[in-house]
Amino acid sequence: MSAPLARRPPAAAADVPALRCAGLVHVYREAGTDVAALRGIDLEVEPGQRVALLGPSGSGKSTLLTVVAGIMRPSAGTVAVFGTDLGNARERNLRRLRAGTLGLMLQGASTNLLLHEGAGANVEWALRGIPSGSTRVADQLLDAAGLRADDRPVREMSPAEQQMLALAVAMSTRPRLLLADEPTSQLDDADRDRLLDLLVEIADQQGTAVLLVTHDELVAARMQRSIHLRDGRIGEEATAAGRYAVIGADGSIPLPEALRAEWGSGRLVSIDAVAPGELRIRGAETGGDHD
Ligand code: ADP
Ligand code: MG
Repeated sequence: MSAPLARRPPAAAADVPALRCAGLVHVYREAGTDVAALRGIDLEVEPGQRVALLGPSGSGKSTLLTVVAGIMRPSAGTVAVFGTDLGNARERNLRRLRAGTLGLMLQGASTNLLLHEGAGANVEWALRGIPSGSTRVADQLLDAAGLRADDRPVREMSPAEQQMLALAVAMSTRPRLLLADEPTSQLDDADRDRLLDLLVEIADQQGTAVLLVTHDELVAARMQRSIHLRDGRIGEEATAAGRYAVIGADGSIPLPEALRAEWGSGRLVSIDAVAPGELRIRGAETGGDHD
């Protein structure tokens, strides 16, 4: 009983979530007006878990992804990627995280690519100085996209081709957390399915956690969890087990969309625990109904 002491894995990596957001707030400060894009996000993603991020335009999806990518610091709350607190991390550590741990595909595929270079050169550029990267992974994706032997520069590619290349580039570094903002928005159904099959297969193989913004329920269905954002908050989460409201850090419970019109804001309700695991919400009686 003496040997095991020195053999501990560093920082018990398996227990550290891929992503942990707690009370995450982000406010854009523009001249004259502030826009609160994230209003208290609590979210934990396990290593290897795939999560879809849904929600209407303007609900904060891209802001969340950009903050998780370490591109913008949050205004308040915490965001940690594999245990690194992005709000407090030094720029050097953020750079290392972006290079070795995160795979990033921002909205608008071409923003992720070198426009005057071809597919191969874009992958090579992404893999510079990243020993864990893999041209094999990129080749798999480029093959699926029909871009492997293609030497056209990115600017001559179709939006769909650019999108597939951007995903190949993001995955080629073999990230532990892939962040992708609407990665299939330009693809037809066949390309979308082909790309998703590969994405899921490679992510499974490599144990890559995925946070993926999409408007497409079919894309979301390929992830293990779907988080719905509404006005900068998590409105609802869906898993294979069902759809759920998520209790916020402040104890608030967002109503399901379908009930919002009937149960408007300011309405008084009583909430009682009626049985273990069960709450009852009842509208307060409005005065004047009795005679
Ligand atoms: P989504 O990706 O869900 O469409 P965004 O994260 O892009 O939503 O935007 C969330 C909110 O923040 C919106 O009200 C949007 O107008 C605002 N917003 C986004 N980017 C900026 C910015 N750079 N400056 C000011 N406001 C912004
Ligand atoms: Mg967006």
